[in-house]
Amino acid sequence: MSDLLNRTILAHHSALEAREYSAVELTQVYLDQIAMRESEVGAFLTLDAEGALRAAEESDRRRLAGKARGMLDGIPFSLKDNIAVKDMRLTCASRLLRDYVSPYDATVALRLKQAGAVLLGKNNMDEFAMGSSTEYSALGVTRNPWDPSCVPGGSSGGSAAAVAAKESVFSLGSDTGGSVRQPAAFCGVYGLKPTYGVLSRYGVVAMASSLDCVGVLTETAQDCAAVLECLVGKDLCDATSVEHPQPDFLKAMRAPLRALRVATVSSISEELVDADVWQALQSAAEILRDAGAVIETVELPVPKQALAAYSVLAAAEASSNLARYDGVHYGMRSEDYTSLAELYANTRGKGFGDEVKRRILFGTDMLLGENRARFYVRAQHIRERIRCEMKELLSKYDLILTPTSPTVAFARGSSASQERLACADMCTVYASLAGVPAVSVPFGKNENGLPLAVQLTGRAFSEGLLLRTAKLLEEALG
Ligand code: GLN
Repeated sequence: MSDLLNRTILAHHSALEAREYSAVELTQVYLDQIAMRESEVGAFLTLDAEGALRAAEESDRRRLAGKARGMLDGIPFSLKDNIAVKDMRLTCASRLLRDYVSPYDATVALRLKQAGAVLLGKNNMDEFAMGSSTEYSALGVTRNPWDPSCVPGGSSGGSAAAVAAKESVFSLGSDTGGSVRQPAAFCGVYGLKPTYGVLSRYGVVAMASSLDCVGVLTETAQDCAAVLECLVGKDLCDATSVEHPQPDFLKAMRAPLRALRVATVSSISEELVDADVWQALQSAAEILRDAGAVIETVELPVPKQALAAYSVLAAAEASSNLARYDGVHYGMRSEDYTSLAELYANTRGKGFGDEVKRRILFGTDMLLGENRARFYVRAQHIRERIRCEMKELLSKYDLILTPTSPTVAFARGSSASQERLACADMCTVYASLAGVPAVSVPFGKNENGLPLAVQLTGRAFSEGLLLRTAKLLEEALG
């Protein structure tokens, strides 16, 4: 049965329909794989074997009655632990929320439940989605499945590792500045950040609301299309949610690909990127050229500027969003206080990790007094400039081709990797600031066996084209 681990969602779907195996059998194969690999990989914070088998049984019963609900019915998956599931722990990998149980479902979780997908559990992450290596989790260590001495990337590192280690068919993460795409690149899986607003944020713990997007992690481009198709659709619970004008992603995967106009970015230059990553980028360009694409190099604001704007805006919004963890409303409460102010201070002091505190302090400072105009407002201007320039660029080109991350997965032990952490998002923040979709496409391995990847960024609502192009690269790589 273990060959079931190498099948796509579409293959599982046809096999389940043909009664080659049941959803219970499929779920058991994944639970066995989790049992075998988890001690090394550490992708999960919560595992719900019982609930998964129950959901799988219900799926089998539906199918027998001729009432299967579509492509994802009976497919095992996992969720980053900042996505709420009713009656399940919602920790955000924080001490502060270690024992917090959600009273309701996030819309994306609910839609997967309603589609009959089988939830295996919740994945590890950087605390409150702040980080690029999953090393800022207060609740567990996640290792890269291709090399346990390396990080899986972050902040959705548990989700990416789970899919790469075949402990889950697909996973959802969240991407504020790159947190789905970068771990996908480090673990050799697909990671899609859709257009802002396309997936509901209702029930997804907020980091920086104007940037946060739910993202999809899968092993193939087509799987990504299948999951996305099940999740889109306006949600009245999220005022920023929008209807997708072209939601037939699986159909888009079968469409012939016309000659593309592709841009590469001059400021993301060879000097800023590892040699093997640069090589992968050139090969990807070659494949697209062979398929008839015209590729030209264009200008965008330098990564330093984009990163600076991102870090100010993300921290400012996070400092405000995280004010709700006060020891009264959610999760942990310090026992040690004599006044309300002390209750707040001691709860937050003990509950949050260092990185979260650093960002709350930095973000608060960016909004205070004269700093507001000097930093926050200026960052907004840079954001607006990037948004306009990307829009202009994407009116002339179908997509932008860049690396996903300047490096492959780096060694665990964050002191050695502080600098790398700071640069990890340099290629991903553009799409986040502009609100446009981007996908990280796995692109083989380097000589040390670590995954390589490239990123495709497109105009708003062009997920279909991005995934279709990703599939072209997938097929060319074999
Ligand atoms: N690595 C980035 C950061 O730490 C991105 C985080 C994210 O996308 N959630 O801010």
